[in-house]
Amino acid sequence: MDLQLETREIDFLNRVQEFSKSRVAPHAQSWEDSRKMPIETLQAAAGTGIVGLEIPEEYGGFGGRFRLKARVAEEIARDCFAFSFSLINNMGLAGKIAREAPKELAERYLPEMLAGEAIGCTALSEPAAGSDFAAISTNARKVDGGWVLNGEKAWITNAAAADLIFLYAQTNPELGWRGVAGFLIDAREEGVERLLPTEMMGGHAIGVGGFKLQDHFIADNRLISSPGDGFKAAMKGVNAARTYVATMCCGMTEAAIELTAEYASNRAAFGTTISAFQGLRWDLADAQTDVEAARLLAYRAVLSVEAETNAEIHAAHAKKFSARIADTHLTKCMQIMGAAGLKRQYPLGRHIACARIANYVDGTTEIQNERIARNLFGS
Ligand SMILES: Cc1cc2nc3c(=O)[nH]c(=O)nc-3n(C[C@H](O)[C@H](O)[C@H](O)COP(=O)(O)OP(=O)(O)OC[C@H]3O[C@@H](n4cnc5c(N)ncnc54)[C@H](O)[C@@H]3O)c2cc1C
Repeated sequence: MDLQLETREIDFLNRVQEFSKSRVAPHAQSWEDSRKMPIETLQAAAGTGIVGLEIPEEYGGFGGRFRLKARVAEEIARDCFAFSFSLINNMGLAGKIAREAPKELAERYLPEMLAGEAIGCTALSEPAAGSDFAAISTNARKVDGGWVLNGEKAWITNAAAADLIFLYAQTNPELGWRGVAGFLIDAREEGVERLLPTEMMGGHAIGVGGFKLQDHFIADNRLISSPGDGFKAAMKGVNAARTYVATMCCGMTEAAIELTAEYASNRAAFGTTISAFQGLRWDLADAQTDVEAARLLAYRAVLSVEAETNAEIHAAHAKKFSARIADTHLTKCMQIMGAAGLKRQYPLGRHIACARIANYVDGTTEIQNERIARNLFGS
């Protein structure tokens, strides 16, 4: 299945591939070693126009389709899933501002984001609320001329450096999910404290961390998704996010299979190369079949998201399957490479950590199953 990009989109994707090969691949392991988010590389991505992918041309962007964004995510994930995830989250906020924010906010913040001077993130999760998003307790209280926010967000991609946050908060706990609203927060303003980045087993280029809001006042025009719409908007956005996580898992796993096949073709054992052993060959053949199948599911979801049809089930199948096969086959690739697979010079350790991450972000694998089962059983 080909996503049939237009010529200008193919040119854009070629530029992204060049960027990834020159600016991402050579540094990905050192970002992991230093456990730091590569802010300068995010800024460089903005400098080459990548951040403007989905921004309309009237705001200085490229005006690209969702299928191009999904392909960009897939290509960069071949080199570094973590950087791809960080970049795509940053682009996601820019796109949301262009589509949904009042004109005065779009004109204020989009130039900064397109220039790489401001980095964005989206904050739903909290220390005590992950899968159960409707249980968030960050509170938004209506006051004269605006809102006052209090609470804490955790596990937020790009939090280590983000200037702008699309933040979900509860406006009336009695209303449950119907009380959730979405606000645009400027983290450089008073009352927003950045918390220390979270140390993990890998994926540090994601810059995961949190924010604490203490009597943070925002004007009325920062309310972007009203109570009632906030939860639905978040769920719609999450289908798109699940879809590009799926394409990223395909890119990362396919790159590892290619690396492993090349290694096996050159590694001598018992008078031949290990690529001559049928068990090993079939393991990689099975891995490639699963990537092909995962990509079909992912691209089907991409087209549903782009067509603005209900993408929930397509996205759930795609994310569940691709994260699961990444988990399984990356470990197999490492096994095929023998002890060499453990070396820093190869990306398999980084990739395995990111396959684990893919099973949590934007809804865990179990939550995808819940969606699929609810559709199957009708409740
Ligand atoms: C690297 C990284 C980046 C992230 N970036 C962001 C971000 O940018 N913004 C953001 O808001 N959040 C982000 N998250 C948070 C992510 O969305 C949550 O981790 C996810 O929603 C799961 O929540 P939890 O980890 O608290 O798990 P929990 O909700 O505590 O779940 C624990 C376990 O219980 C299972 N479980 C929970 N409910 C059910 C159920 N109903 N049925 C069956 N099993 C269930 C889960 O599948 C899981 O296995 C990020 C997380 C990571 C690791």
